[in-house]
Amino acid sequence: MHIALNKPKQLVVGLTGGIGSGKTAVSNRLQALGATIIDTDEIAHSLTKVGGLAMPDIQKTFGEEALLPDGSMNRDYMRALVFKDPGKRIELEKILHPKIRELVQQYLNAGAPLYFVLVVPLLFEKGGWGELMDEIIVVDCPEEQQVRRVIQRNGWPETQVRTVMQNQATRERRRAGATQVIENNGDLAELIEKIDFMHQKLIKKAQK
Ligand code: ATP
Repeated sequence: MHIALNKPKQLVVGLTGGIGSGKTAVSNRLQALGATIIDTDEIAHSLTKVGGLAMPDIQKTFGEEALLPDGSMNRDYMRALVFKDPGKRIELEKILHPKIRELVQQYLNAGAPLYFVLVVPLLFEKGGWGELMDEIIVVDCPEEQQVRRVIQRNGWPETQVRTVMQNQATRERRRAGATQVIENNGDLAELIEKIDFMHQKLIKKAQK
């Protein structure tokens, strides 16, 4: 069960999309325009870095192998482990999720001058966040573009990108759950234009 979260009085805009769809590009721009970003991936990362709040539990549950010499989580090891064994994924999620939710609540409690953007990459796969969101923005582009962008950004082999995509919700599923879709199928200048337009609408909604 998820710990229930209290909705803040400000507008909460959910932001999601498949791997490489452009979520970070969108959230960076919205942040530059004044939105308050809460990124659940970034929070998960901070929990598992050196001295991260989840590291004692991770060490206890998964042993020394789960840690790098500096005390941060060994991401390659854990990625392989949870990929092989879904039970381990559940164990890791049991450690991380309550802490992520707690931190999200703290950020929400701190307020936002305009509106919140809550970035949840696996919104439709995991559940548990939707009740907080007044809008759900899905960043979308053709799969071939996702693949190309991630290969270019991460230097991954194509099969690795495709495996991640197969484990994510389909484009159709995401688009069906959106209140707004950002079509990120052009260049970055086009994307910025679309985001700026959307920001104006969100500000108006936030002021209601
Ligand atoms: P992930 O789920 O892997 O974190 P993401 O959805 O956050 O990915 P981004 O990191 O924003 O995606 O974008 C993936 C890559 O594609 C980045 O290198 C980004 O700069 C690039 N990119 C995003 N949108 C565009 C675009 N419209 N034109 C050109 N490059 C783009």
